[in-house]
Amino acid sequence: MNKTIAAISTGQAPGGIGVIRVSGPEAFSICERVFRPKLGRKLSEMSGYTAALGEVWSGTKLDDCVALVFRGPKSYTGEDVVELSCHGGLYVTRQVLAEVLKCGAAPAGPGEFTKRAFFNGKLDLAQAESVMEIISAQGRNSMLAAQAAGSGMLSKRIVNISERLEGLAAHLAAWSDFPEEVDLIDIGEVAISLGICKEELSQLLKGFDQGKIFREGLRTVITGRPNVGKSTLMNLLAGRERSIVTPYPGTTRDVVEELVSLAGVPLMLADTAGLRHTEDPVECIGVESARRCLKNAELVLAVFDWSNELMEEDFKLIESIRELPVIAIVNKCDLEQRIDLDFIVSNFRYYVTISASRNIGFDSLELAFNKFIGAENFDAGQAELFTERQRAAALAAKSAVEQGREAIKQGLTLDAVTVCIEDALNALFQLTGRRVSDEIIDQVFERFCVGK
Ligand code: GDP
Ligand code: ZN
Repeated sequence: MNKTIAAISTGQAPGGIGVIRVSGPEAFSICERVFRPKLGRKLSEMSGYTAALGEVWSGTKLDDCVALVFRGPKSYTGEDVVELSCHGGLYVTRQVLAEVLKCGAAPAGPGEFTKRAFFNGKLDLAQAESVMEIISAQGRNSMLAAQAAGSGMLSKRIVNISERLEGLAAHLAAWSDFPEEVDLIDIGEVAISLGICKEELSQLLKGFDQGKIFREGLRTVITGRPNVGKSTLMNLLAGRERSIVTPYPGTTRDVVEELVSLAGVPLMLADTAGLRHTEDPVECIGVESARRCLKNAELVLAVFDWSNELMEEDFKLIESIRELPVIAIVNKCDLEQRIDLDFIVSNFRYYVTISASRNIGFDSLELAFNKFIGAENFDAGQAELFTERQRAAALAAKSAVEQGREAIKQGLTLDAVTVCIEDALNALFQLTGRRVSDEIIDQVFERFCVGK
């Protein structure tokens, strides 16, 4: 913690601006050795939250640079921080970082800036985890949930539970030490209070399961016979949140996937969707791959043509996907109806009529999708648990609370109940980091990227 650390904070791809962040007791003096301000004012003499224009030098000029000064404790890490904003090329930023390291800074490990913020009391462990969650969020809902956690709402929910338990524990302890002086405990009330804790923990755990869909998305396949409008639907889905549409290599060699978003949920669309504009997926990726793709899908978007009678191929498709998680999409509703809609309705629980090319009915697609994932009641603004670590801690707390209730039911001693409450508290303190081992802290920050 006494070392001054530095890293490139702007990622591993070239961009307009690259930021080298330096944090620690020597941040100002180290940066003064590499940064030459235009107006001659020294960084160490600048007040917090101010900027200076200048150049970064390493024998010769490396780059133009704006230096931002933050004075601890009013900084992200709680320490003195300088952020050097240069041109965002990989070579340039690496050269600047190398110079900063040469002048005495140590390279920052993954998440080390945030780790320091945690140790300096700027945020608790659940808030620290939300930082990475915001960075990796791929849709509106996962971002909102991560932000709610980052603002401390998740911690507040947990603290509410732990305060209730602490109150119980204190009362029980006082009673066992001074039975004459403390009011007799109404054991029924202890049981009720534990019941409330259990209910709140259950709510938190339920939120984890729903939030998972928003964070991790659904493996999705678009299928349907040629010409029903699969590609058009793809483009529509892709176009709505274009910024996150990135082609990426799929899990298997012969399947390419694309990331789009529907109602805030990332969908990993597989190649059978006609991404390669091959209209026969079976021919394109092989019977086995196509079958595997469908079988592994967490969502199948089956497209049919409103303006045509159902054909042999449609019937075959319906037969093969009947048991799968399907939303049937009847497309081209702008044209005259020829399809036997009743047949679709009788085969699929979720269905919508849309026109992909005219962009009609997208609302009902979102509605059907929300029903499909059971998210009609999901409130993304409500902070939920979002890491496996948090989930495990909450589960442990819940089971300890349940054991406490069980102990009361069986008429065990109050000491036995106290032990259960202590166990639950320990689990909750691990969640927020109030009482947590170095090992767990290391595990949390290992997941971070360097520079955050
Ligand atoms: P795919 O073979 O399933 O990928 O179908 P395409 O997306 O390539 O679409 C086939 C044809 O149907 C194209 O000419 C599209 O412009 C047209 N099309 C797609 N959606 C609609 C729609 O909603 N209404 C109408 N009228 N035409 C559509
Ligand atoms: Zn197509």
